[in-house]
Amino acid sequence: MRTTEQMNILTFDIEEWYHFDIFSTEDKWLDYPPRIDLYLPQVLDKLDENETKATFFCLGWIARTYPEIIKKIQQRGHEIACHSDKHFFVREMTPESFNLDLAIALDSIENVIGQKVVSFRAPAFTISEDATWAFEVLAKNGIENDCSIFPTTRSFGGFPSFGEAKPTLIKYKEYRIKEFPINMGKVMGKDFVFGGGGYFRLFPYSQIKKLMNKSDYNMTYLHMRDFDYKQPRFKYLSNMRYFKSYYGIKNAYPKFEKMLKDFKWINVEEAVNQIDFNSIRQLDLK
Ligand SMILES: [Zn+2]
Repeated sequence: MRTTEQMNILTFDIEEWYHFDIFSTEDKWLDYPPRIDLYLPQVLDKLDENETKATFFCLGWIARTYPEIIKKIQQRGHEIACHSDKHFFVREMTPESFNLDLAIALDSIENVIGQKVVSFRAPAFTISEDATWAFEVLAKNGIENDCSIFPTTRSFGGFPSFGEAKPTLIKYKEYRIKEFPINMGKVMGKDFVFGGGGYFRLFPYSQIKKLMNKSDYNMTYLHMRDFDYKQPRFKYLSNMRYFKSYYGIKNAYPKFEKMLKDFKWINVEEAVNQIDFNSIRQLDLK
């Protein structure tokens, strides 16, 4: 169902099939077969078909290694944003090392697109309550919009004190960041993030549609690997992580197609234009 008051933001994280794995270090990356471009062309065609513009959070490493991929996304009119350089978790970094990683990422991406990048998402939503210093680093590097908050607890941190999952103006010292958090839906009394990753692939489409209809703000985070059922698998993951990483991949693309058709989608850039940030909730983090 398309409703006019509902804000649905479509975003993708542009990384390779192996970047989610914390044990896969940079020295191995180029030994792995590249797969990022296997599904991207059909996703871009699908977005054109639905006249939808998305935000693509790209790794700086991808921009340096496969610049043509980032160019291709930009040429189709989508917003190019930043997803760090090497997919390190922000909460495990220092302000100095995060600043360096971010500066390298922005430089690499901006070199390819010839434009300033203003939106950011941390790997695995790792700007947690103990890493609010990251907002200062983001602001100092010219980032205006952030999509890194996971407003509940999770294995890699989370931000349970954030409050309602709605666009919010974050104040940190003298800095201001427009925050677009991930949102959750209730299933049998429990909160689930369903806009990407494991639960997006696990829940049937009817469930996702129901949860989306109940919320007037929905934020997605899809990856090419969510659609890539032929990707090599990391056999050493724990049973739970293996299941969460690879369950339901075969059905994810048709699910995405339906979602695209059934709802009206905008990207972060457009969401910023539609919101009056003086009249929405402000969150003072210092
Ligand atoms: Zn990621």
